[in-house]
Amino acid sequence: MLIPEEKISEILNTSDIVDVVSEAVILKKSGRNFFGLCPFHAEKTPSFSVNPDKQIFHCFGCSAGGNALSFVMKYHGISFPEAARMLARKYDIVVETRDIDPARRKEIQVKESLFRLNKKVMGVYSGLIQDQPASRGVRGYLERRGMTRETIEQFKLGYSPDGWDTIVSFFRKEKITRKVAVNSGLILPRKQGNGYYDRFRNRLMFPIFDINMQVAGFGGRVMDESMPKYMNSPETPVYSKSRILYGLHAAKQECRRQGKVFIVEGYFDFLSLYQHGIKNTVASLGTALTREHVRILKGYAGRMILVFDSDDAGINAAKRSIQIFVKEGIDTRILVLPGKNDPDSYVMEKGKEAFLALADEAKTVMQFLLQLAMDTHGSSVEGRIKILDEMKVYLAMIRDAALRSLYVRELAETLNIDEKAVLEKVKDAYVRENTRQSPLIPAREEEQQPEQQVSDPREKQILAMMLHHPELIPSVVEKNVVQAFYSQHFRDLAQKIIQTPADSENFITAVMAKVEGTGDQELIASMAMEDFSGTEDLGKTAEILMDRVIKIKKKTDNLIISKIISAEKGCDADVMDLLKQKQQEIQQLHNS
Ligand SMILES: [Zn+2]
Repeated sequence: MLIPEEKISEILNTSDIVDVVSEAVILKKSGRNFFGLCPFHAEKTPSFSVNPDKQIFHCFGCSAGGNALSFVMKYHGISFPEAARMLARKYDIVVETRDIDPARRKEIQVKESLFRLNKKVMGVYSGLIQDQPASRGVRGYLERRGMTRETIEQFKLGYSPDGWDTIVSFFRKEKITRKVAVNSGLILPRKQGNGYYDRFRNRLMFPIFDINMQVAGFGGRVMDESMPKYMNSPETPVYSKSRILYGLHAAKQECRRQGKVFIVEGYFDFLSLYQHGIKNTVASLGTALTREHVRILKGYAGRMILVFDSDDAGINAAKRSIQIFVKEGIDTRILVLPGKNDPDSYVMEKGKEAFLALADEAKTVMQFLLQLAMDTHGSSVEGRIKILDEMKVYLAMIRDAALRSLYVRELAETLNIDEKAVLEKVKDAYVRENTRQSPLIPAREEEQQPEQQVSDPREKQILAMMLHHPELIPSVVEKNVVQAFYSQHFRDLAQKIIQTPADSENFITAVMAKVEGTGDQELIASMAMEDFSGTEDLGKTAEILMDRVIKIKKKTDNLIISKIISAEKGCDADVMDLLKQKQQEIQQLHNS
């Protein structure tokens, strides 16, 4: 292990799972547990639970589960040592980086040096926007767009001058290694000859912060007629377009407080809304919204309001984005701004109240799509059939069956078509949707499934009892029941539980720290959520279970013996029959 075991225990004992999960999921207390919408699968009703006593989380929907560390790993998609370090930082626990494996250390160093570098470059750009003749143009531009000094200050807007080597020579002066410099994406190799030149020239610069306020990258808007008008940093080890939302670092608290977030497209849309006090806003920066984006936002707000321009490009963008939200089962509203407005121009012209009033009228996704289809196809019989054909695709994307049937009914009523007919169409589309990934949506990486093994449910129950009542463990050991387990997997888990000191401060946490692999952690978490309070004589129940498992094991052993004897006799056909018969017997025992 790269981080000493006692450090891991310290991290786990100091951290609080409710505190850790709350950073990503809105939790509500219910009884002893907390519940929220699972960040790992799409759902409308909370089945994701956190138990503060046991310091574990478990999703009843997708069976994700584990402790604070596994949550951080899974949520951020990072390795175990990275997650440990992240939690350690949060709780001011010092972890030596000496023992980390070289490759990982390298990776962490690369990221840290890029964040440091970006921060310095942000300083250069924002220094250059101050009262200097060269940046008069960009200051004038910001003024014309109505940006206040506070906004410019808060979001650290800057200026990249109209030269080829502002950043190149800054890097030279700072003795930045070529590798780090190139990695930052801020300089590019010259097409002819040697050397490098600045990527951003004569542009208004927007630093792009990650959720922790670290500078992940930059965007720049031209100050002359060159193309493209807007340009962002390329993907780097610290800048991932599919995860970063502009402004979330500043908006997150307000998103939580209001339970909703406006999603706009550009820098100025964001800045104008923010400046007008609509602070629960993020900008997608023209990148197609991804499942990652939506899942990150879900941790801050239940309702998402997509704000679009009413031109064709805006409508098409809306149609594209909607799919992700429908699939994730998010309460999504579509706000199409009237006239030729974008969020920036609208709020600048009409003000905050007008914008919010319009937002209150925002359509649901289905209302929006239906309206769009009706505008296109009209209300003739043929038209209505076409509308149905269009809508069924979206309805089929809804994973929540209850919600889907609500919409089916609504659609049937609106189109005046028999509900059964609508349902049939949607069913067809549903089958197609779920056998083939839509090309618009990147396929989800196959999650690693633990190897499926045949096991007796009784074995699992014994494990759960050991977890909840470590005082039962001595009798488990005495009966040697673990040796009789049919499942090798459960046998290994049982050994880990047995090896955990029964007087551990929090037994389940201690066991969890011993198991590796997501599958096992999830299993432990799900067993830890079982409730034995209704079991009257626990000791007796455990004994019955164990005896049963041992009895089955004896039967299996007998089977093997008879198999060997038969094989020795050389009558293979008979062996097969016998085997089948015995297997059925054992199967019945397992099922009984
Ligand atoms: Zn889940």
